[in-house]
Amino acid sequence: MSLPRIHELISLKGKSAIVTGAASGIGRATALRLAEAGASLYLLDIDYDGLSKVRDEALNYDVKTELFKVDLSKKEEIDNLWNLIKGREPSILVNNAGIYIFRDFIDVDEAFLDNIMKVNLYSMFWMCQNMVKSRDKKGGIIVNVSSIESILPFAKDLIHYDISKIGVLALTRALAREYSRMGFRINAVVPGGIETESVKKLKEKTLLRLEISRVATGLQFMSRLPIGRFGHPDEVARVILFLVSELSSYITGAVVVVDGGFTST
Ligand code: NAD
Repeated sequence: MSLPRIHELISLKGKSAIVTGAASGIGRATALRLAEAGASLYLLDIDYDGLSKVRDEALNYDVKTELFKVDLSKKEEIDNLWNLIKGREPSILVNNAGIYIFRDFIDVDEAFLDNIMKVNLYSMFWMCQNMVKSRDKKGGIIVNVSSIESILPFAKDLIHYDISKIGVLALTRALAREYSRMGFRINAVVPGGIETESVKKLKEKTLLRLEISRVATGLQFMSRLPIGRFGHPDEVARVILFLVSELSSYITGAVVVVDGGFTST
């Protein structure tokens, strides 16, 4: 049997992909790598201006890009999106959008926790459900973005975030168990220490406000980070590209850590 060539395995030509949270950070980097591999894009975010900029950047790759302003905390908006694209549902779904807002455990109220769970976990649940329902016989590929915080809670004031992100892993593995035989591959990536614009802003804010305990956490993080530097969003995007391509055709239900070795120490 002759094996497929590398460029055939990595190519996404003729395929299309949804990327959520594509206006910035890891989502933006992922959208651009998927476009480079030839996928046409359905980009979702609450930030339409940010999406427009990413569409301009994707022009370099000569792929079709459609933008959708969706508030992923609202199931109704998610369902509307899938109705809108009925009959041309993509075979690839990258659930990346997420929010990390620091708040003391004692100060978390119901509205705050609800919102975190809706954006970080329920949105992925509803997106996966729509994907599985609509591509029932055809199968597809899903990558869900979790966080190192889910398996190694490290930063203070992120308990709400941690529980949402461990849910992402449970969702991924349970779905893989139920749907892989039906032609789906469903995996999770677990990033940590990725220097996106949002992370840079958080760092600046922490320093400006002299939030001592958070500065200390940052220093501890760096001191135990084996690779000795923060990651670039593209370094996560490349792993997501691997997981949505045929290079990873035998991988499902996996939890792929992209954290410069942090959780190994
Ligand atoms: P980011 O803030 O740069 O990007 C997140 C995107 O999601 C933004 O464009 C934002 O507008 C969008 N978004 C937020 N709420 C939304 C909503 N309700 N509806 C639609 N879109 C919404 O973040 P990032 O650093 O690129 O992180 C991306 C993912 O990676 C998140 O799930 C995050 O939890 C996870 N993650 C990041 C890191 C890191 O170090 N950066 C580490 C671990 C996990």
